[in-house]
Amino acid sequence: MSDSENQKGMSKYELKRLLNELEDIRGRNTELVSLYIPSGYDMSKISDFVTSEQSEAENIKSKHTRTNVQDALGKIGRKVKEEQVTPENGVAFFAGNVSDTEGRPEIKIWEVHPPRPIESRHYRCDKEFVLQPLKDMIVDDRVYGLIVCDKNEAAIGYLQGNSVKTAYTLDSNVPGKTRAGGQSAQRFARLRKQMLKSFLQEIAGKAKNAFLDKAREDKLLGIVVGGPGFVKDKLLDDDYLSSELEEKVVTRESLGHSGEGALKELVQKAEESLQDSEAVREKQEVNRFLENLKEENGKSEYGVQQVQKAMDMGAVDTVLISEDTELYQAEYICPNGHEASVWEDEPDIEDEIECGECGESMELEDISHVVDALGETAEDMGSELEIISTNHEEGQRLENMGGVAAVLRYRIR
Ligand SMILES: [Zn+2]
Repeated sequence: MSDSENQKGMSKYELKRLLNELEDIRGRNTELVSLYIPSGYDMSKISDFVTSEQSEAENIKSKHTRTNVQDALGKIGRKVKEEQVTPENGVAFFAGNVSDTEGRPEIKIWEVHPPRPIESRHYRCDKEFVLQPLKDMIVDDRVYGLIVCDKNEAAIGYLQGNSVKTAYTLDSNVPGKTRAGGQSAQRFARLRKQMLKSFLQEIAGKAKNAFLDKAREDKLLGIVVGGPGFVKDKLLDDDYLSSELEEKVVTRESLGHSGEGALKELVQKAEESLQDSEAVREKQEVNRFLENLKEENGKSEYGVQQVQKAMDMGAVDTVLISEDTELYQAEYICPNGHEASVWEDEPDIEDEIECGECGESMELEDISHVVDALGETAEDMGSELEIISTNHEEGQRLENMGGVAAVLRYRIR
């Protein structure tokens, strides 16, 4: 890891790939060690803790497991001693035996400087690594808005990744159909109608609070509305929602229940539509690129080198990378400080190349996958990055064009 990465932590995309790697590792026994340290922790205390855990491990009965745990802790202990102070966002260590051959262990260690702060100290020795705190850091912050309502109650929430969160719950005062004594049927019906109207206005108001900012930040993927009965239909058909929100509605579903408990039911019912709408969004992104290309307006680039050049200029609005793209960036440096980067389609890359400027031999500094390499630039330059699936025709067209494309903010040539 380079010094600059040590300072600011790895990018979200790098972390995502590392998590994929760590997630696949399984211990034969509870021998995989995970240690999370938040920023500001006294590293010498952590060092003492690791040493005491190492002697605690003497009690492990199985000899293989005992040695593996102690070796893993030993590696972590040495790394901890190297860190004088905890990095800005804290640090996480993962260590353990990755060998499949029993009796011939290979202890590997990973030191992770995450893109966001580690919240709390955590230590565990298990059959798998503890990865949730890191996974929480790469959660997509785009959401679907959820509205469930009937005439008695309503709930407004979000679907983010796979988790459903409640934003508001509302109760209506709309009376049931049995009428109070003494009132004329007409007056009672009018009262009911008015109360329903104000309840629908209240729902629309809360929906606005919950979703409008997200919509304006382009982080609202869609709105899903559901509930038993006619109230959900009234909400949509009688234009209670503001037009900015109304155009985000992707589906409405009939449900058995209403209220907070029905938010999950709504998500289950709408799953197919949500997947479709994800594909629709991906297709729109690819089509935006293709249209620009057809119009020859200079606002599309494709091919990893062209895209990277446009990104470095800050000209890229959205980078599109096909999910199947296997491309690696190798970065070289020569003794005179000249730098070069080369794209290869396999991770097997030359260790040395000749410097184009001074003829000295350049050494390989770093290799990164296209998603990491462009993801980092995207973060620095404020470009969006979309991974496009190849399950639809537009995705396959992107793949056929080399898998890397960009929609530009302005033309550059
Ligand atoms: Zn040189």
